[in-house]
Amino acid sequence: MLDSILGSLKVVALATKTDFRSVTSREVALFEGPMGWGEFSPFLEYSYEESVPWLLSGIEAAFVESPRELRKLIEVNATLPAIDDPIEIERLLEDFDGTKVIKIKVGGDLHVDLERIANVRRIRPESRIRIDVNGLWSVDQVELFLKEAGEIEYVEQPCSTIDELRELKLRTGITIAGDEIFRKAKDPLDIDIEGAVDIVMLKVAPLGGIAKALEIAKHYGVPVAVSSALESAVGISHGLRLAASLPELDYACGLGTGALLAVDVAQLPIVDGVIEARDVTPNSEALTKFAVSNERLNWWKNRIRMTWGAGVQNAVAESGWKI
Ligand SMILES: [Mg+2]
Repeated sequence: MLDSILGSLKVVALATKTDFRSVTSREVALFEGPMGWGEFSPFLEYSYEESVPWLLSGIEAAFVESPRELRKLIEVNATLPAIDDPIEIERLLEDFDGTKVIKIKVGGDLHVDLERIANVRRIRPESRIRIDVNGLWSVDQVELFLKEAGEIEYVEQPCSTIDELRELKLRTGITIAGDEIFRKAKDPLDIDIEGAVDIVMLKVAPLGGIAKALEIAKHYGVPVAVSSALESAVGISHGLRLAASLPELDYACGLGTGALLAVDVAQLPIVDGVIEARDVTPNSEALTKFAVSNERLNWWKNRIRMTWGAGVQNAVAESGWKI
């Protein structure tokens, strides 16, 4: 299987429209299997061990039959990175056609973050707002923020530890979504979320694939939202497939992040706040046009070999997948 992955491998660098957590060009590796295209795109600084679930997810997409879909149209939210120029915010939000919810990245200076939210409210007064802190604040900081921020649908990973999340919940009663607490855990199925997490964020690639994400959703039995990790349209289509196959889906999903890319390998347009879940084949012109240098291609091939050895080979052997 490793040979098959490396044999069809294409690596592209996709420019982003704005700086997204210091990323301005997103490198993603794509490969083709009997079930379609898979994506392998851990961020460049991730270790081989940390990249294992990402490769498993890509392999699942390319080689394993996907679960039955229960819906076709997936409601998505707009995603606003940490940008502060009102004109830039307005321009970016225009690319999220008809979305009713805006997820805003915060976690820096409190005043700057509150101003960003105020700007968004001026531009889109009718939208609901959720924030993503990426675990960067203390309980006190979140409490202070919530006093000033107005109505917030939910806060995503406001603090980094489960004890802090529980303390925050106790103090404020705010709805809390857990993201890193699951995807950075040794075992995402072994977290005591009682009184700490109300919503589970499901990201296909860092959790190790659609089947694993469905298992996590079933295990916790609380509402979920599906989100991306700034993937290409290929990776996003896997998130859409998960969203389409979940028994319950109560929240708009963070799968509109293709709108943050200046270019992509295929189109998955947001129309009236929804994206249609469908298979994606990367456009061959785009694969050529955005291809990385030979040196980068070899770097990615090596990364795949090392990640394969760091746990993917064993996991595939134990998966029970009929490949
Ligand atoms: Mg998050």
